[in-house]
Amino acid sequence: MFSQKVSSQLNNSSFIRKMFEEGDKLRAIHGADKVYDFSIGNPEIEPPLKVKKTLIKVASSDQPGMHRYMSNAGYPEVRSKIAAKLNQEHGTVLTNEHIVMTCGAAAALNVVLKSILNPGEEVIVFSPYFVEYLFYIENYHGKPVIAKTNEDTFEPDPDKLANAINASTKAIIINSPNNPTGVVYSSLVLNQVSEVIKKKEQEYGSTIFVISDEPYVKITYDGIVPPSIFKIFQNSIIVNSFSKSLALPGERIGYIAVNPSINDVATLIGCLVLCNRVLGFVNAPAIMQRLISEVLDEAVDIDQYKMRRDVLYNHLVKLGFECKKPQGTFYLFLKTFIPDDIEFAKIAQKHNILLVPGTGFGCPGYVRLSFCVSMKTIENSLPAFEALAAEFK
Ligand code: PLP
Repeated sequence: MFSQKVSSQLNNSSFIRKMFEEGDKLRAIHGADKVYDFSIGNPEIEPPLKVKKTLIKVASSDQPGMHRYMSNAGYPEVRSKIAAKLNQEHGTVLTNEHIVMTCGAAAALNVVLKSILNPGEEVIVFSPYFVEYLFYIENYHGKPVIAKTNEDTFEPDPDKLANAINASTKAIIINSPNNPTGVVYSSLVLNQVSEVIKKKEQEYGSTIFVISDEPYVKITYDGIVPPSIFKIFQNSIIVNSFSKSLALPGERIGYIAVNPSINDVATLIGCLVLCNRVLGFVNAPAIMQRLISEVLDEAVDIDQYKMRRDVLYNHLVKLGFECKKPQGTFYLFLKTFIPDDIEFAKIAQKHNILLVPGTGFGCPGYVRLSFCVSMKTIENSLPAFEALAAEFK
């Protein structure tokens, strides 16, 4: 009676959602303070005060026309401000024409993929990956192709990438700072990736787009600044959102920025604007556009995440867990004591610890912890992790 494809996707959709539901059950039995839910990337930190105050100001404006339809790309003045900010950060020459406002990074990715994909064309995704990429690619009859990252660094492996590219490759999605590993890709590796792409474009006479999914670009630690994608890749498209940087995931606001150096960029922009409309988003929320245009210099207090990262990471390493110290995001990717990560997550659940198996990110043998929870949850969870580790001694 319903779509066969969607019905089958329902059965193996998301470990993250499953864990979230398990959490609800455990909270009902044990009480919320006895459940250590590290499953979902839903920030516990509140948006910065200036963001809240500006939202009140914008929402209570008497200016007529504040709530009407607008250009499908979004307000030109908002897009100009984002272009100016990106120019400052990347040394680029973007104008408002190169920016399309979207309902978060998720919508941005869908708009980009619909705009570039023909049925059967391939999109390379590095594992471990954000699982929604696979659904988004399939939404437009594209074919996801998985390229494993380097096992030691979790950065793209240029050789494995080269092997994954063929005449049908249309795009590569990169995500740095990375969900789930917390790794920030180095400019050395990104330049190697760029060389591979250039060679393959020449070999096949094709254009391979680099879609850079950057919702965590402002959440980095220890002074790390992610390299500028526009400088490294000619055919690059950045998708970004304010879900994590301003802790506004429920408000659905983000944007697409296209590299002016893409051939026939005007047609690409036309496709993006049309897709924003015909996918049913029509335009990004008006109030949110006006809000973020006034708070582009704001970000959540990264030190709060850093404190959480440090307490958890130091404790876990002391207990014998293997893990790379996250350079960005609010995720830790732990090697499990046993190869079966799903079984490991089940054992953790007995200690009221909710983790997402790496299998859900195309990377068995690991679990992801999302540490955008309260400091109290982290502190309360430490004995539970000790008990979990003791099971494997
Ligand atoms: N990309 C990655 C890697 C994410 O982790 C998320 C959300 O968790 C998204 C995209 C979607 O973000 P948004 O809320 O902006 O749609």
